[in-house]
Order: sequence, then structure tokens, then C-alpha cells
Amino acid sequence: MPEVHALLSASSSKQWLHCPPSARLQEIFPNASSPYAEEGTFAHSVCEYKVRKYLHERVSRPQSEEFYTEEIDAITDVYAEFVITIIEEMKRNGCEPLVLVEERVDYSHIAPSGFGTADMLIIGKDENGKGLLHVCDFKTGRGVFVDADHNSQMMLYALGSLAAYGYIYEIETIRMSIIQPRLGNISTFESTRAELEAWGESIKPIARMAYEGKGEQKAGDWCRFCRAKPVCRACAEEALSLCREEFLDLDEGAFAEKSIDARASPDESDITAPYKPDRTTPVFKQPGLVPFSELEKILPTLNRISAWIESVFAYVSTEAINHGVPVKGYKVVEGRSKRVFSDTKAVVETAIQNGFTDLYKQQLISLTEFEKMMGKKRFAELLGDFVVKPPGKLSLVPEDDPRPPVDLKNTPDQEFAVLSDHGED
Ligand code: SF4
Repeated sequence: MPEVHALLSASSSKQWLHCPPSARLQEIFPNASSPYAEEGTFAHSVCEYKVRKYLHERVSRPQSEEFYTEEIDAITDVYAEFVITIIEEMKRNGCEPLVLVEERVDYSHIAPSGFGTADMLIIGKDENGKGLLHVCDFKTGRGVFVDADHNSQMMLYALGSLAAYGYIYEIETIRMSIIQPRLGNISTFESTRAELEAWGESIKPIARMAYEGKGEQKAGDWCRFCRAKPVCRACAEEALSLCREEFLDLDEGAFAEKSIDARASPDESDITAPYKPDRTTPVFKQPGLVPFSELEKILPTLNRISAWIESVFAYVSTEAINHGVPVKGYKVVEGRSKRVFSDTKAVVETAIQNGFTDLYKQQLISLTEFEKMMGKKRFAELLGDFVVKPPGKLSLVPEDDPRPPVDLKNTPDQEFAVLSDHGED
């Protein structure tokens, strides 16, 4: 059965809280799945399996030839170890916690028809013996750091949990943790029950506006996963005005004022209207070199511009490739492909019949496979001395990223890695 999402989903709450009409504007665009999302769903099922196994429930290990990798095993281990530690801690605090895995939570008292699925709810006592609700969320993304601090998705899950269990358990404190192992990110935000409930009250009018499709369209970093982005006027105007300010002489070329004004006609504001690319060449402002200090200033906006460009290109390409919409000046072509065997069994038989025998390579099993085979303790005893952890690839990230900065004086030269964004769960 296809997964059902609330209009005001907790995972898109940052978006509808900043841009209330976005919830309704997206309705006409299909919620297409992606390999990243499918991998995320599989990884969540592995997390669930590991926690339920710890809880001595009868479960079978999820299988996927496509998505099962050692890395998935490793990152789901990080999650499982984190939540098991919380459960064990609560037991040490003198209680048998209530543990709810993949629990549906209803926060419709805050946002109309709002519901979602929390990866993990643990209700018990903190180190001072006070009632504690701990909400955990697993993220597989490696592109964008997700911070738990005032994270609206987590806060909505927590409000839904309070609505369901807050009457039975005397919850005073709420902890909300995001576990994002691919970025080494485990962050926890703590709130009192009163603070959380006050926040819930404060967003009710915005949630109502979002549900009714009212309010002002406002572009920002929350546009990242908005399905309306490729055709959103606010987003286009923001991206183009950023380009205009920073790079281009807009008296000329594709990004000239007239290009945007021309799109303001009622006909062209119709998102189903045919796409009309403007291929006039943009003219760069400065014929010379742009100083580093200027590049530094525009860096924070570049991600937004490139994300918008990518989304427009992806949308137009999909229209052309999947729906045959003609795009003037462009054509659909086939990419390069690699030769492959259509029938490997027949290949092996034919090669052997003709006297060729060296058909297979032998490979050393991986570190994780060794660890699984020997068990962690034996592995550490026998092979621990041979394990090294090479430094990760360096990348430039915004200052608010919680990872500590690298001491570049003691780091050999490396090529930098550009952060890419593969979507969020
Ligand atoms: S893309 Fe447009 S509709 Fe979507 S969140 Fe951004 S401004 Fe709002």
C-alpha cells in the first residue's frame, strides 16, 4: 500500500511554517520516490528490526539486494546502539520505560489533520527521577546536517506523543534526538513540557493558514524539498534576483528584468503552460576577476541558486523525457552506456567449453564482514592493531555546522569535496 502523508507533514513543517501556501501548492505535483528515499525507507526498516530484536520481539531481517550494504549495516548499528543506550539508562534510573517503535503520532490538535510516524518514542524517567519523553529520529542523508535544536519535525512528533501519553505519564522533560550517522551527527535538544506546548500554541494560526492554502509565499532554504520549486514564482524571483545582484548585467541577456516581467502575464503564471526557455546569453558584470572577498560573501546564496537551477532543469527534463513535451532548442538523446553480459551463466559455460578457466577474482572480505564473522571482541583482540581510520575528505561547510573545524596546519593537502544534497527523510 502506498505510504500516506499528511498535508501538513512534520517532515515538511519547516517549509509550511515559513511558507504556508507551499503545502497546497505542492498538491498537484506527484510525490515521486527516489532511490535515496527508497534507500532511506530500507535503512529505517533495518533500524526497526535491530531495535525490535533487542526488545526480544519476533522479527525477520529486512532484505534488499539493491540497498543492503555494509554501510547500511554500520549506520543502522549507530542508531540502534544510541536508542538502546537510552533505554538502558532509563532502566538504571529506576523505571521500565515504555518503548514504541515506528509509532504513529497525531498532532492534529496543533496542525489540521496532522500526523506522522516517529522512529522511536521512549517514555520513562530521567536521572533525577522526573518523567521523560525521548523522541528519536534516524536520518540517512549525507548532504545536509540536520540539527535537533528547535527542529519543528521533532517538536511536532513530541507534541503528538504528549497528546497520546501525556495524560498517563507525568512527563516533565522532552528530549529530541536526531541520529544522522553518515555525517557523524547525533544531536539532542531538550525542552520542558510547558515550553514545547507553548510553541505548539504559537504555530496553530500558521498551521491553519497552511491548511487553507493562505499566507505569503516566501523563499528560503526550506524550499529545498518543495515539489513546487521548479515552477514557483517566489523561488524563481529570489534566485534570479540573487544572480542579478551578484553576477550579471541585467540590462542584457536571459536574466534581464524584462524576462521576469514577461512571465508575469496571467497566461504564463499557469504552471501547466508550455515551458519557454529564454536562451539569450547573460552578460557578466565584471570583465576582470571577482575578488575572493566577493566570492566569500555570495557563498551562502550559491547553494540556493544551484538547487533552484537543478530543480528547474530536472522538471523540464522530466516533462520532455517522460511526457514528450517539446522543448524548443533542445532534444532528448541517449547517454553513453557500458557493455554488459546478457546471460552470465551462458558466458561462463561457453568460456569453459572453449578452454578458458581463470574466470573469477578472489577478494578479501571487508572489515565489517571480519567483525561479523569473529564477533567484535575477538576481532579487536586479533586484528584491532591493524585497523586504521584514514582522515575523511575535507569539505567547506557553513560555520553553524556542528562538526569541529580541522586544524589545517597539521593536515596534508587534499582536494575539497563539494557538498551535495540527496534529499532528506
Ligand atoms: S518553492 Fe515556493 S512554494 Fe515552495 S516553499 Fe519555496 S517559496 Fe514556498
